[in-house]
Amino acid sequence: MKKILYIEDDPVSQVLIGKMVDKMGFQMISARTSEEGFERAFAEKPDLILMDIMLPGLDGYETTLKIRMSEELKDIPIVAITAGSNPNDRQFAAVTGCNGYLTKPVEFDHFSKYIRTLIEKPSDLSDDGHFHKEDSAVELRKFTQRLVQRLTEKIQELSESNKKLETAYQRLDKYVTDVTRNNQDLMQFNFVSNQVLTFSNREKVYKELPALLCEKLSMLSAAIYVVNERDMTLDVFSSHHLSMRPDVERISIVKPPFFDMVYYQEPVLIDKFWMQAAERADETMAKRMAPFVHAFHSHTIYFLPITGRPKAEQGFHCENTDCHAFINKDPNWWNKKIYKLDPNSLSFESELRDVSQYYFNCCLYGVKGVLALGIEEGRLNENMRQMVQSFVRTVGLTIENIQLYDDTKEAYLIAERQAITDGLTEIFNYRYFYHQLEREIKRSKRHWYKTSMIMIDIDFFKAYNDTHGHPAGDVVLRKVAEIIKTSTRTSDVVARYGGEEFVLILPETPKTSAIKLAEKIRSLVELEHFPNEETQPNGRLTISLGVATFPDDAQTVDELVQRADQQLYQAKMTGKNKVCVIE
Ligand code: GH3
Ligand code: MG
Ligand code: MG
Repeated sequence: MKKILYIEDDPVSQVLIGKMVDKMGFQMISARTSEEGFERAFAEKPDLILMDIMLPGLDGYETTLKIRMSEELKDIPIVAITAGSNPNDRQFAAVTGCNGYLTKPVEFDHFSKYIRTLIEKPSDLSDDGHFHKEDSAVELRKFTQRLVQRLTEKIQELSESNKKLETAYQRLDKYVTDVTRNNQDLMQFNFVSNQVLTFSNREKVYKELPALLCEKLSMLSAAIYVVNERDMTLDVFSSHHLSMRPDVERISIVKPPFFDMVYYQEPVLIDKFWMQAAERADETMAKRMAPFVHAFHSHTIYFLPITGRPKAEQGFHCENTDCHAFINKDPNWWNKKIYKLDPNSLSFESELRDVSQYYFNCCLYGVKGVLALGIEEGRLNENMRQMVQSFVRTVGLTIENIQLYDDTKEAYLIAERQAITDGLTEIFNYRYFYHQLEREIKRSKRHWYKTSMIMIDIDFFKAYNDTHGHPAGDVVLRKVAEIIKTSTRTSDVVARYGGEEFVLILPETPKTSAIKLAEKIRSLVELEHFPNEETQPNGRLTISLGVATFPDDAQTVDELVQRADQQLYQAKMTGKNKVCVIE
């Protein structure tokens, strides 16, 4: 009985074809995979093989090729059974060495006739379903041509998409690099900003900032040009990346006349601020700045103004369009105003003059200085620009805050000093004296030491005033105060007690030392020449003094003052120009 091997993974097809083979009177051998099919072909030596194309693992074509290469099996006729969905199946079947092919669904009459002929009389085959040798050769050539063409196309497609992929990779790579760098820059700017915010003095900001910018943000160079408003000089603070000098020095000071403004208009009152817009700065400023700029930057530099809050409110009208844009917070103002200068260009000096004029001269901008940055070529992209600008704003506002704090502190100190100082003699007033005396007595009690006080009164002062007038009397008061002050230690407190009376607090001083000091002051005043003192009743301007010591003469502050006053009275009563003390 003839044997037919059917290699097919689909069980339904197996059953269907199995029935047909049965009906034809042949023996059916089944295999589910290529491997199994191969094994069974070897074992059974079938008369014909039915080959399903879509198989798991090796497919039908590959299995056919393998069978054709086997010495033992190569002559067995093979019929491919395809689903007919692929138009190239016929070609593939021919090329791989099938003897014929059938498309699913298989119809019994056609199937039985076709298979029987293939097995019993292959020479009778003439219809389309069988391949002849010549047929195979033509098909093979055609197939090869198409294959080559397809391959060429594929290779082209592949190389194009490869190219695209490559550019995409490059772009991605650059993007990742940019993002990483931006991120690092942002972090460093943030770090430096925070650092700057902790600075509590302006010098420190100016001195340390350039080095910070070079070290933390890899600027090639950084310099700050500051107008010192107090003496109208230009201070330069700078740093380079290359030398990495952390010690930023103050390079030089350009001496006045540094500002030589030419006003093109009368100062304008904006709100409560006077604005003076200068038409052009003295050219010498740019000229004097140039050597410093050359010294610190050999490459392109960017100039940024360090500004505080604008000094005028929005809505203000000004002829100068830049002022206007600035006040109205034109976001482009900042972009426009980053000046790019090349120290090696011929027009450098004139450009520098424009920049200096621009930044230093308009008080309206509240410019604190100019930051000059050497930034690597191509590094100042939009992100960097924004970071730098926002950073410079922080610096400007920090400096302004420090300035504000210093001004307030100074005003407070002045007010405080005024509150405890006598305006005429510039020594302490009664209020301060009393406050200090209370403190000293408390300290004496705690530490067991003696505190003395001296009360002084000018003799016949009414007479001096009446004869020479009050202004002449004031001169005497100032002179006496000066004498007392220069004869005492810094730890002593000298105060004006009232009209022509003075008091002295002598901490940690026993009575004997206090008497010595009182006597010294008395004789200094007596020896001093005062204008027109001959008219005084005793021919000279003199003072009387009363001394008292804690705790020897008194137990409380009031009592101590009272005792000193009593001794002063005693001196007055016993002839004046003398020192009296409780024995
Ligand atoms: P005595 O020797 O007893 O101290 O007599 P006196 O004239 O110095 O004392 P009296 O208290 O009678 O006069 C004090 C004078 O000091 C009265 C006033 O004209 C003068 N006097 C007080 N304060 C001032 C001041 O601020 N400037 C001037 N120029 N004179 C003052
Ligand atoms: Mg007097
Ligand atoms: Mg008096």
